[in-house]
Amino acid sequence: MSGSQRQSRFERGEDVVVMKFGGTSVEDAAAIRRLVGIVESRLGAQPVLIISALAKVTDQLLEAGNAAAKGHLGSALAIVRNIYVRHEDLADSLLSASAHGSLDRELRGELQALESLLHELETSRHFDLKAQDRLLSFGECFSSRLVSWALCEAGLQAAHVDARNCVVTDARHGQASPLWDVTNQRLRDALNPLLQSGSVPVLGGFIASTIDGVPTTLGRGGSDFSAAIVGAAVGASRVEIWTDVDGVMTTDPKVCSDARVIRKLSFDEAADLAHFGAKVLHPATLAPAMRENIPVYVLNSRHPEGHGTEITARASTGNRVSAITAKRNVVSLEIQSRRGVDAALLNTVFGVLEQHTCAVDVMGTSIDRISLLVGSNVALPKIVEDLRQVADVCWENHKALVCLVGENIRRQPEVASQLFATVSDMDVRVLCQGASERTLSFLVDESRAEESVRRLHSVFFPKLEPARDWGGISSAFCEAG
Ligand code: ASP
Ligand code: MG
Repeated sequence: MSGSQRQSRFERGEDVVVMKFGGTSVEDAAAIRRLVGIVESRLGAQPVLIISALAKVTDQLLEAGNAAAKGHLGSALAIVRNIYVRHEDLADSLLSASAHGSLDRELRGELQALESLLHELETSRHFDLKAQDRLLSFGECFSSRLVSWALCEAGLQAAHVDARNCVVTDARHGQASPLWDVTNQRLRDALNPLLQSGSVPVLGGFIASTIDGVPTTLGRGGSDFSAAIVGAAVGASRVEIWTDVDGVMTTDPKVCSDARVIRKLSFDEAADLAHFGAKVLHPATLAPAMRENIPVYVLNSRHPEGHGTEITARASTGNRVSAITAKRNVVSLEIQSRRGVDAALLNTVFGVLEQHTCAVDVMGTSIDRISLLVGSNVALPKIVEDLRQVADVCWENHKALVCLVGENIRRQPEVASQLFATVSDMDVRVLCQGASERTLSFLVDESRAEESVRRLHSVFFPKLEPARDWGGISSAFCEAG
């Protein structure tokens, strides 16, 4: 990108902050009021908002699509009516009568298009990824319009921008990738004039379209990615991901109640975490932020005063291990060559996986063997059948890949030996040293995944001693005793 094209930090030399609000941060009237307050606190910079569908709406739309395609039009229509009514009720509690009227006209237009799509699905009995993208995009259309009006109601100059006109992708429906040059250009064309006039642009996350205007989506959880795409296009000084947890945690707090917030992470560590199953960020999110060196913050919209997690190019937690993840539903594939591994076998293996769109999580090769870990996939029996044409194949499912992530983890052999000592009795199958310098992972039965995470967490993140009250002599006495 040339310097003149870039116009970073925006033309007026002011800071742009891209703020993404996830589904739970817009789920009800209280959440949207909090959102308005958070945006007001950022008016010293120029906010650009990326809004997810209200919590659960994307799943409900999927359900409606599936129902319609099975011929259950009545229940499909009931689901989308409920979605519409939910937005209407929110409009009712958040907006004045005239704003409510304007929003209602917009929402009714969307609802009509949504209903006719369901009719189409009922007739065709065919619900492919292309139709799915069209359908799911309504969730973000509804929510972003609602939030935009809620901001106006609070006296902010908000402007709704249809992300489908700006974010341009390939046609890989369900998981599309941006075409960067046209996306950057269109985003700048749409957003720069608004920013110049002091408006707060509000875009739906997750949604995009092909160059021909066919709706696409960026994959589930893709609003994070939208935020980074927009941040990179306008040269934002930061991207904020507002969610319902205090930041990226050392491990899943549902598995381990001692999990705590990681204050700082590097882009690389965060990308590894996302790749190895941490749910906090959409895995593709960090690439544009990394490329443009834009810090990303993960923050809790219920506790906006918290520090959250800061993700930057260079960061050190000072810990040997930054986080522990577990990826479930992993399948191990052992491919034994009948005559030594050669490039042709590797090519065939990757060809077969590609053909069935099966991504590889970890791979290891030896003289005559290829070990692969892949996500569980309905096409696996077919994949194995194809591979058996050229090699002997064993596979096992219901595995979990447990992973320790930390800068330089590989340069600290004591981490690996502690890991071994901690889980040595657990039938740990493979210790994987993938290409990344920052991860150390192993395969274990899914049923043992949680226990291994808990054990490792207590070793690498020992419980912080609660602050003691030394005020009274009796407690000191008890301690001494
Ligand atoms: N609404 C979409 C989903 O539920 C995208 C997102 O929330 O990031 O996956
Ligand atoms: Mg998310």
